[in-house]
Amino acid sequence: MQTQLSKVNTDFKKDLEDFLKKSLKGEINLRSLWQELFKNGYISSTNSFLKNILLTETICKLHPGIGLFLLTHFANIEIIKSFGSENIKNKHLEDLISGKEISCFSLTEENAGSDISQIETKAIKDGSKWLLNGKKIWASNGSICDLIILFAQTKEKGDKSGITAFLIDSKQKGIEIKESTPKLGIKTTPSNEIILKDVEVDEKNIIGNIGDGVKIALSTITNGRIFCSAQAIGLLNGVLEEAVKHSTKRNQFGKSISDFQAIQWYIADMSKDLDGARLLLYKTAWAKDTNSNELNKLSSMSKSFSTKAAQRHSSNAVQILGGKGLIEDSYVAKAYKDAKVLEIYEGTNEIQQLVIAREIL
Ligand SMILES: Cc1cc2nc3c(=O)[nH]c(=O)nc-3n(C[C@H](O)[C@H](O)[C@H](O)COP(=O)(O)OP(=O)(O)OC[C@H]3O[C@@H](n4cnc5c(N)ncnc54)[C@H](O)[C@@H]3O)c2cc1C
Repeated sequence: MQTQLSKVNTDFKKDLEDFLKKSLKGEINLRSLWQELFKNGYISSTNSFLKNILLTETICKLHPGIGLFLLTHFANIEIIKSFGSENIKNKHLEDLISGKEISCFSLTEENAGSDISQIETKAIKDGSKWLLNGKKIWASNGSICDLIILFAQTKEKGDKSGITAFLIDSKQKGIEIKESTPKLGIKTTPSNEIILKDVEVDEKNIIGNIGDGVKIALSTITNGRIFCSAQAIGLLNGVLEEAVKHSTKRNQFGKSISDFQAIQWYIADMSKDLDGARLLLYKTAWAKDTNSNELNKLSSMSKSFSTKAAQRHSSNAVQILGGKGLIEDSYVAKAYKDAKVLEIYEGTNEIQQLVIAREIL
């Protein structure tokens, strides 16, 4: 079994980190960032899944809040590749990969969170068109996107065989995208409500077939979980570096605080979990690149393990920095806030437990 990244991949991470240290300054424009990464060859149509995961991990080490933007757009590109018609692929794939078009994924509603079968956004056939009405919440990238991959019910509420994925132009008549919902952490990526009033969608903009929505949503979330894990690991790496830097410089009671066993134990635990989480993440990305039938289980294991570790150790990093860890806009304070939601989106960690147990039993 492979347990180490190749030199090409470790060099890719190093080179990207150097590039980002120069380019990730000031206010971040997510679309321009993606386009820069594309222009400089870090994103391309020939990237393996693993390479996109390494890219996400590296960016999130420096700026965890960007992870939600990346995972959403990367997971949507996978949807178009796997389920889009030739017409949809020809029209959009190149522009999505280059970042000329940015996408959002809109499934969640007030009454449909973990239980996606309960979506109420309705799609009614009207000649060769579908007419969509409803309200979505938590659509990441909503206010910066050109394309929305949106799920609606074509049958009665609760009937999974009616859920269908539509590709919609965000500027289309009848669509209202609200301001980003104020939230704890992950503020760099917007999360929006989307209201749909008599939105007309042509039949050729259905992704897959009528009723394929649940299959498409679940496969997207499987991919999204792997990106979410990369986001958590980037963040965990970042807080470990901050904790080491601070604890070796800070003196109390006449010695470096890193000489105290209490601090050493925090650092040892962070380092163990980072290495363990990385191995699981890379194993999962290799499983995706080789179409392994273990993918579903591994992506849930990787997501829940690394996000729990990120949440716990970002809190420990604040502890190690003491008062300095509370300074707003410092790396660890932001990481602490960014980490919580990782246990919630792409399927909550309780749902990941169900998936893992189901796969094993
Ligand atoms: C910042 C952010 C960004 C998001 N981005 C997107 C996006 O881009 N697109 C999108 O469609 N959605 C997005 N979401 C929505 C996200 O996927 C949901 O929040 C998530 O699936 C959980 O749904 P819920 O919030 O309704 O919680 P609920 O489903 O109501 O769950 C509440 C609690 O009950 C537990 N629970 C529920 N069912 C079970 C069960 N069967 N067994 C055990 N425990 C259970 C959950 O684990 C959780 O602890 C985002 C959410 C956030 C916060």
